[in-house]
Amino acid sequence: MASSADTFKPGPKLNRFLSRPRPMLIGGKWVLAQSGKTFEVLNPATEEPLAAVAEGDREDIELAVRAARRAFESGPWPRITPSERGKLLWKLADLLEQNLEEFATLETLDNGKPLTVARVADVPLAVDLFRYMAGWATKIEGNTIPISVPYAPGAEFFSYTLREPVGVVGQIIPWNFPLLMAAWKIGPALATGCTVVLKPAEQTPLSALRLGELILEASYPPGVVNIVPGFGETAGAALAAHPDVDKVAFTGSTEVGKQIVKAAGASNLKKVTLELGGKSPNIVYGDADLKTAIPGAASAIFFNHGQCCCAGSRLYAEKNVFDKVVEGVAAEAKKIRLGPGMNPKTEMGPLVSQEQLTRVCSYIESGLAEGAKTVVGGKRAGNRGYFVEPTIFVNTRPTMKVIREEIFGPVVAAIPFSDPEEIVSSANNTVYGLAAAVWTRDVSKAHRLARQLRAGTVWINCFNIFDAALPFGGYKQSGWGREMGHAALELYTEVKAVTVRL
Ligand code: ADP
Repeated sequence: MASSADTFKPGPKLNRFLSRPRPMLIGGKWVLAQSGKTFEVLNPATEEPLAAVAEGDREDIELAVRAARRAFESGPWPRITPSERGKLLWKLADLLEQNLEEFATLETLDNGKPLTVARVADVPLAVDLFRYMAGWATKIEGNTIPISVPYAPGAEFFSYTLREPVGVVGQIIPWNFPLLMAAWKIGPALATGCTVVLKPAEQTPLSALRLGELILEASYPPGVVNIVPGFGETAGAALAAHPDVDKVAFTGSTEVGKQIVKAAGASNLKKVTLELGGKSPNIVYGDADLKTAIPGAASAIFFNHGQCCCAGSRLYAEKNVFDKVVEGVAAEAKKIRLGPGMNPKTEMGPLVSQEQLTRVCSYIESGLAEGAKTVVGGKRAGNRGYFVEPTIFVNTRPTMKVIREEIFGPVVAAIPFSDPEEIVSSANNTVYGLAAAVWTRDVSKAHRLARQLRAGTVWINCFNIFDAALPFGGYKQSGWGREMGHAALELYTEVKAVTVRL
């Protein structure tokens, strides 16, 4: 493991941001929590405090929702043209790009991921998402619809639909891709003309707060985007239950997703979109090009330390190549250099928190207790920072917790298969349906499987390929609705049917 002695010292720009308690953004102003409370954010590589952040609660959510409602109904926002909304989104993308290095560093310090990854993935993907959504702002169109009205013979009508913003949107995001998740949420909301109250995850609120500074710099009208950091049970729950929020968009665990649905139903039946957990099957056939499938399977689970809802955590390999695939993925796992994300040699950083470390280690223990075996890894790495060894299980059974439940860490179960029919039912034998992948040289087989797999994303001979233009979301208990692509925009708009008697 790379030494954590090379602790990073922030430069003057980041120091400015980290050295004072970070306030929240409400109505275009930076304000402290009504309670005056702050909470500490830790660097997961060192377990040391990184920054203090205003702790939002019900009262702050109340103020933020009021500001978002005012901005939605009065002020300049409703009158801003689609073209101007597009320009504002593009401007935000430009500012983010100009500050790429600072955002990548913040993300690494706060979340733990390697800086080399944040630089090429998290920040550029967020920039691209804002640009993609900027283009859509001028293309939110309705239809003209010929109608017949059987009970009004001879009458003539002209009917058309309008697509209107859904209104004030509460957005609750997780800690695994803090900036990118903020972009996935804020982008379509602004493109369609909604206003936003965003609650970042309590573990990683910093990049969203810094993004708030750019939103002011880009001259968005006050109240269009409000950012309230705080805890899930308090600030998050208040947002989900608020009667004046028109929609809540949530990314996180399936368990909390169900609570969000309950809160939305019990308050005002606000619209809900959810991007939840996963237990994605990654299927390697004997006829696959193993030179790409093996590193692909390793990256499918170890990228972002396995903290991806779409992580390829069930690796099915056809019997005739099973040993070779397991050996190959194990060799890849052994090569991965663990260390603090700021170290340029680091390939895998720490998990995000003590809670995640405990959770992932207890899953590993449960796998061992139920009779599974580790080929590589199997425990915490070091004793400072929340590092876990990349771990591969074999000898599993479908009933084991490590096969059924989402671990959200660098832990994969390798499972052999022989019957091509059986693999479809094994792969689909999960409450989740977020993603799946197939590795084969047989084109027909690949496409047939793509149809049979019950998942919102299917990758063929690749994994973790994301693009702002591609919809992402889950079947079954992996969620409701889609993010990104034009599919996301539909879920930020209401359709209004207008009929004129001619
Ligand atoms: P994880 O278990 O991976 O931390 P969670 O689903 O708990 O994922 O958290 C994702 C987001 O949901 C975070 O922003 C968190 O604060 C928020 N959250 C957690 N519990 C609730 C809740 N009861 N109501 C609303 N938001 C919540």
